[in-house]
Amino acid sequence: MEAVKRPWYRIKKAQMSFLCALCGSQRQMSLRSRPSVRNYIQMTLLISLVCALLWPWMDYRGLVFAPFIWVLWELIHYGLFRRQLPCPHCGFDVAWYAKDVRVAKRKVREFWEKLD
Ligand SMILES: [Zn+2]
Repeated sequence: MEAVKRPWYRIKKAQMSFLCALCGSQRQMSLRSRPSVRNYIQMTLLISLVCALLWPWMDYRGLVFAPFIWVLWELIHYGLFRRQLPCPHCGFDVAWYAKDVRVAKRKVREFWEKLD
């Protein structure tokens, strides 16, 4: 399989830079799979804001929403990360390759069929 030669664009504030395992093109991602220190600070501020808004009704019991906010935030973050993961040049998704090689092959095949 020959990779489609397309220029790659530099992402502002790239968190990861690597080569695609299938086509060898340069890749950059703006998100990491795990939250950074900055993300933990953002989550803490968001939880504090929610608790402050609920304080008149729930006092400190507003903290009961903290784990739900945390889980929701992690799910959204990981979803955005997974959305960036497939290679735009060949369709290779390393997360699917680690889980199930057949699915990864099918996704690459579908990517190439869409180009035809
Ligand atoms: Zn690729």
